[in-house]
Amino acid sequence: MRRPIVVANWKMHTHSADAGILATSVRNNVADFEGVSIIICPPMIWLTEVASIIGKGGRLEVGAQNAFFEAEGAYTGEVSPTMIKDVANYVIVGHSERREYFGETDLDVNEKTIAALKAGLTPIICVGERKKKNNPDEPVSELIEALAHIPKKNYKDIIVAYEPVWAIGTGENADPIYVSKIITKLREIVHSNTSILYGGSVNSGNAESYAKMPQVDGLLVGGASLRAADFVKICRTWSLSKNFKNDLFVIKEEDEDSN
Ligand code: PEP
Repeated sequence: MRRPIVVANWKMHTHSADAGILATSVRNNVADFEGVSIIICPPMIWLTEVASIIGKGGRLEVGAQNAFFEAEGAYTGEVSPTMIKDVANYVIVGHSERREYFGETDLDVNEKTIAALKAGLTPIICVGERKKKNNPDEPVSELIEALAHIPKKNYKDIIVAYEPVWAIGTGENADPIYVSKIITKLREIVHSNTSILYGGSVNSGNAESYAKMPQVDGLLVGGASLRAADFVKICRTWSLSKNFKNDLFVIKEEDEDSN
């Protein structure tokens, strides 16, 4: 179901002490935010700790930043989707930093997406063009490749994050109208119930400009998610946006499940 979602990607930041403090601070300040799901993705080593701090069944959930595509075996250093499923319901797949620094290909992203779904995790699939250009070909092709061999009926079990690489960590967030245009194209590929988020230099000052866009269901936040006050503000903005988005979220089940 399309729903408002804000994802925090802590990347490779925080140590034991501050991970707990950050998670606790976010938890204590978002409890009454209605109409938004908040997913915290800490470094893998703090996943269990953060999960236990935020508890189960509330507004907050946890996700992993990556997973391997095998369920078990002699793969030193890797963590499988079934292991993650013991503590989390989400996993980020195909983040541009994984593609750039760890050589992840579209095929890897596809295998990881399939494995995540098989394990019962919701993959948050990241796609986005590397260089600034005014056309959707790169993210569209990455999304098509990520979803290869996956039955259309499973598309409602995924989340897509449109993250133009040039906007990640640069302080140069993409124009909300441009983001809407690209997301409209991505929507042609997925299920009408698939949530599509925007990510790239989002902060508490620009979050509202995306909340106003009916095509944008939520945000994936990197740097600003490490500052509790900023992140809480972003979540509040998104929570308040639900009124004018309500119509959009009442989507009739269409007969898209066949494939
Ligand atoms: C990200 O980590 O996916 C991201 C969008 O980072 P930032 O918000 O720092 O640009």
